[in-house]
Amino acid sequence: MSIDIRNIGISAHVDAGKTTLAERILFYAGRIRTIRDVKGGDGGAHMDHDPLETDMGITIDAAATTVRWRDTDVHVVDTPGHVDFTVEVERALRVLDGAILVLSAVAGVQAQTHTVGRQMDRYDVPCVAFINKCDLAGADPALVVEQMRTALDLPAVLVQWPLGLEHDHRGIIDLLTEESVTFEGSENERVTRARTELSPGARAAREALLEAVAEHDEDLLEALLDGGPLDLERVRAVLAHATHLRQLVPVFVGAARQNLGVQPLLDGVVDYLPRPEQRRVVATDPETEALHEVRGDVDGAVLAYAFKLQETDFGSLTWLRVYRGILRPGVALVDVRTGRKQRPRRLSRLDAGETLPVAEARPGEIVAVSGLDVASGTTLSDPDHRLVIGELHVPEPVVQRALRLVDGGPDRLGRGLSRMVREDPTLRVVTNGETGETVLHGMGELHLEVIAHRLRERFGVQVVLGEPSVAERQALTKATSFDYVFKRQSGGPGLYARVVGTVEPATSFEFDWTVVGGAIPTEFRAAVARGFRTALAEAEPEVVGAHVVITDGSTHPNDSSDRAFELAARMAFREVLAKAEPNRLEPWMRVVAEAPDEWQGALIQSLTKRRGRVLEAEPGRVEAEVPLSRMFGYATALRSATSGAGTFSMVFDRFDTAV
Ligand code: GDP
Repeated sequence: MSIDIRNIGISAHVDAGKTTLAERILFYAGRIRTIRDVKGGDGGAHMDHDPLETDMGITIDAAATTVRWRDTDVHVVDTPGHVDFTVEVERALRVLDGAILVLSAVAGVQAQTHTVGRQMDRYDVPCVAFINKCDLAGADPALVVEQMRTALDLPAVLVQWPLGLEHDHRGIIDLLTEESVTFEGSENERVTRARTELSPGARAAREALLEAVAEHDEDLLEALLDGGPLDLERVRAVLAHATHLRQLVPVFVGAARQNLGVQPLLDGVVDYLPRPEQRRVVATDPETEALHEVRGDVDGAVLAYAFKLQETDFGSLTWLRVYRGILRPGVALVDVRTGRKQRPRRLSRLDAGETLPVAEARPGEIVAVSGLDVASGTTLSDPDHRLVIGELHVPEPVVQRALRLVDGGPDRLGRGLSRMVREDPTLRVVTNGETGETVLHGMGELHLEVIAHRLRERFGVQVVLGEPSVAERQALTKATSFDYVFKRQSGGPGLYARVVGTVEPATSFEFDWTVVGGAIPTEFRAAVARGFRTALAEAEPEVVGAHVVITDGSTHPNDSSDRAFELAARMAFREVLAKAEPNRLEPWMRVVAEAPDEWQGALIQSLTKRRGRVLEAEPGRVEAEVPLSRMFGYATALRSATSGAGTFSMVFDRFDTAV
């Protein structure tokens, strides 16, 4: 009998208490023996093992760890909260079957809670919520639930009620069983349940809970209307089912730092979030493009998904989620995208830096594997049953900073950078053709600072980063025709190719071949397309798209080759670009800024001053689109404009004309 599994993430706005909660979960599940507080002088929380994360007090690496709770293996993937690192959140979300959304009982729904909410929606991840910090002055969990419903459009429903709030917060009330739950022992490790009389607030919350659940089940609804006793097991089962379908979000309350409410939340994870086999997983057959529903059967052909690469003291590890079959060391796998064979060497689980070897991994499990050489976001399949788990939405790198090597040697720098590019699909390294300067492209100022820090820590290379600027693009504004002959006939085998056609503005690369009478044999078609595609990418700045139509051309009996045609296409596009009057485009961001109502005016002004177009304004919250180039230093400006009360989040929206 294999053990039950839950794959969960913990997501939150920075500072809601995610790291503190993760630490407590490890403690109560018996994985660590002591509780260390976040940002304390004692080395920081357990999950934050990257020294930088401890330095900065934010969590960057999606380290996964496994805890056992009530005979269930709960794989916790620690998802980062900072906006610059949302690609890691997204990669993690794909392999999750559920998540804990952490909110502060005081701050409620914040800017990043919106971002995280949208991501959960995109990947269809069922959630439970934990309203943390109920011990703080101003804590109001009922109001936070209301905000979740109105501002996040989440069907949130309280399953608990706080036993005392603010400094009097001492436990919780289980609304289903009508019990008080209190905690004893030096670390509140003992849980005591006792029947209790519900306060009017708790009673109303219980009624709301039962009504919300009964809406999903006729029998329950009938029993509820009759006023008879309810079968609590049935209520739990219906609530679980509705949670799996994202029709309800059960809400828990507590105060992680005071060790209040963590064990019942873990019960909630096991009770309400789905098992891997309860989630629908769709994969594509790369040959026929037919969709297949993947059932997590142990006997099936192996199918796994690499969602993260990590360099550790033990070498490179690839984090895989197994979707089907049993993964064992030595089994033959293929990277469907590249066709390259891969063989896992060792399988292990990681508890924040410590690897624990395992003999096999079953459907639904998350393991770290050595011996693989794949990019993150890769599907690995049994070579005879090739499938691809849907591709990730990778955000565009929009900020660039020049990099200057100070110490450590160019070879080591090159190795370090190429390793990091493999690990992080949002990082690009570009060499400026004219100046020879190395430029890093990434998600934000801080993202690139983290890269520089890791170059020093992991590869011993010291670099200095230049001022951040935005990554630009260009777009063609008019159709242009070309007739280009590429000829090189000095010494050795010659090169000859002629291509004729038109290029029109487009938002992506499109390619048509209407050559008649074999003026260019179709065997060169792929090389010509490759040449244009390369030319778009290597233009400075990159060209967003073009519709290329090849109508004619010619070849030479000896000197025409793929290489000649590829070069001809590249050169032809350079000529086109010089004539096509391209437009400069820059990244526009979707920004959500928040502050208490009295700062509404300041919020709007802070964004319009930066040429933001306000899309939506409601008390305390403004959504706008703003050119990224105007957003540098915004965090500081917002703080000073709102006396420290304002927060914001932003995500890339599109490339558009510069203002
Ligand atoms: P993260 O940014 O979401 O990972 O949040 P952290 O876990 O780092 O917590 C942010 C701050 O809130 C830290 O100073 C914590 O000690 C504090 N904190 C976390 N949970 C609680 C809580 O339940 N009550 C109170 N009063 N503070 C908390």
